[in-house]
Amino acid sequence: MAKYTVTYACGHTGTIELFGKMTEREYRLKQLTDQLCPDCYNQQVSKENQENGLPKLEGSEKQINWAEKIRKQNISKINGFIQDRRNTLKSWEMKRDESLAEGKEPDHRLLEGIMGCKMEVRSLEEILDKYKAETSAKVIIESRDDYRYEQDMLQRFINEHQWTTMQEAMEYFNLID
Ligand SMILES: [Zn+2]
Repeated sequence: MAKYTVTYACGHTGTIELFGKMTEREYRLKQLTDQLCPDCYNQQVSKENQENGLPKLEGSEKQINWAEKIRKQNISKINGFIQDRRNTLKSWEMKRDESLAEGKEPDHRLLEGIMGCKMEVRSLEEILDKYKAETSAKVIIESRDDYRYEQDMLQRFINEHQWTTMQEAMEYFNLID
């Protein structure tokens, strides 16, 4: 273990401790010189979040800095899930439309899949909206691992709404023709 002085990309310097082999330490030091210092990085993330329309957070400075990073990551993750679901939905709807264009009755399972996928997209969008509106740094920190898996999020959403049938969910989302 040894202490090193690093000059970051922003021009600020800092002292860090590094462990391990010399070559690894040198590599890590070189990496750090290409990055912003921790303070500038915190500021950048917080600025990006504000530019993306996120509300200001409440909490201690330390909590806020951590929460800003967590919410940035989680929002990007949820957005990714939504995009994936939308792509799936699109391809399934195309399949359905092809069948219809050929004058065939679309597969029943395909239609159910489309409905399920629509509900997942709507649910994830609602989860995201709610997450974006959260202003407590503490809540964001404590729930940091709750947004890791799509299925967990959806299950929690279903539980919160106490839906026991598909019908109830469809009514909630106004998906009944
Ligand atoms: Zn800096």
